[in-house]
Amino acid sequence: LSTGLEEAWTKLRREDVLTRENMKEPMRDIRRALLEADVSLPVVRRFVNSVSEKAIGTGVIRGVKPDQQLVKLVSLMGGDAVSIEFAKVPPTVILMAGLQGVGKTTACGKLALFLKKKDKSCIMLATDVYRPAAIEQLVTLGKQMEVPVFEAGNQLSPVEIARKGLSEAKKKGVDVVIVDTAGRLQVDKGMMNELKQMKQVLNPTEIFLVVDAMTGQEAAALVAAFNLEVGLTGAILTKLDGDSRGGAALSIKEVSGKPIKFIGEGESMTALEPFYPDRMASRILGMGDILSFVEKAQEVMMQEEAEEMQKKIMEAKFDFNDFLKQTRMMARMGSMGGMLKFIPGMNKVSPLQIREAEKSLKVMESMINSMTPEERADPELLTKSPSRRRRIALGSGRTQEQVSQLVSQLFQMRARMKNLATLMQGGKVPGLDN
Ligand code: GDP
Ligand code: MG
Repeated sequence: LSTGLEEAWTKLRREDVLTRENMKEPMRDIRRALLEADVSLPVVRRFVNSVSEKAIGTGVIRGVKPDQQLVKLVSLMGGDAVSIEFAKVPPTVILMAGLQGVGKTTACGKLALFLKKKDKSCIMLATDVYRPAAIEQLVTLGKQMEVPVFEAGNQLSPVEIARKGLSEAKKKGVDVVIVDTAGRLQVDKGMMNELKQMKQVLNPTEIFLVVDAMTGQEAAALVAAFNLEVGLTGAILTKLDGDSRGGAALSIKEVSGKPIKFIGEGESMTALEPFYPDRMASRILGMGDILSFVEKAQEVMMQEEAEEMQKKIMEAKFDFNDFLKQTRMMARMGSMGGMLKFIPGMNKVSPLQIREAEKSLKVMESMINSMTPEERADPELLTKSPSRRRRIALGSGRTQEQVSQLVSQLFQMRARMKNLATLMQGGKVPGLDN
């Protein structure tokens, strides 16, 4: 981490809101850090621009300072982590492509072990017939991990081996077929044609291009080129344990549109990990675990509010302020429909019902907004005074009926919550069969 970047972060930490002005310096440093990490220039430009656009005007979330928000935004640019896709009808075929020496064969073994740990049975196909040592290498890895390898020496063509290996896999009923292929020193027609033919024979669910992180920006260009020629589903970035800073990782998705699914960080069979863009972003920008801190802070904030709310519920002091807070919290966590999906039994609520519910919440909010702080905190005031209810109705453009309804709703809610709270504490509620 350059000291310049550290300084920029320190400055940013003192700000309350991100503006064009106070973003300038840190963005310049981020830009430099990304370039030093081998991210390509056009990608860096696009990246910095859109991060700035998103960040400017972002207020502080309580407990989370702007510099931390920025890290969060940076990581979002890398997209979400994507895992392996499995075929609906097994076996799932994973075709591994790539130039020579990038770590294809090693990655085949690593993937087999990864899947084995997930209780998937595998078979590996050795189709690199051009180098006898390549077949031996795969066979050795297979023995080491007790994963079967299908090979036919160099008696058959790669496409024939693929065909035979696949039917062998189907006979055995294995879950996943991992196909190791030959690489060349450079992209050529022969290699592309061979891959296309294999693709036709194998109908793979995943086609991974294995690329070497040490080649820097070249890696992203390769993924784009292979994707155009044969069509890929993702990339595996190897040798991230070398002196490379992993900038290629952030370029690949931007340049090719294809996600990195795994990264290799060593020669051993266990040195394979699913790719997490946020971790890579913070690694490149040298910010360690700030990200998880941001998440923690947000969690804590929600928790504090929830605890406060719970206390009020227990004491039957839930008032209109809490009512507002709760609807706003719901808004912050996403739309009502989005939330209901996660509640068992609630996923059958129709979109129309959800829209109705959201609309009536808006109506309630408008009436609460027309209340004085006093009234919000002490709803009893409203049960006693028709003139207060009339004023609120006028102020919010609702009928006095609606206001009365809202008030009685709150008291009903209090009662129900009180019962619920008693239940949760193991007590008994009068009139309930518990
Ligand atoms: P292939 O020609 O694409 O099949 O490449 P190999 O799998 O034979 O690997 C070439 C060399 O790179 C071998 O010496 C591997 O041990 C090494 N290698 C593969 N993946 C990694 C990695 O993630 N980190 C390191 N340091 N070396 C790796
Ligand atoms: Mg190989």
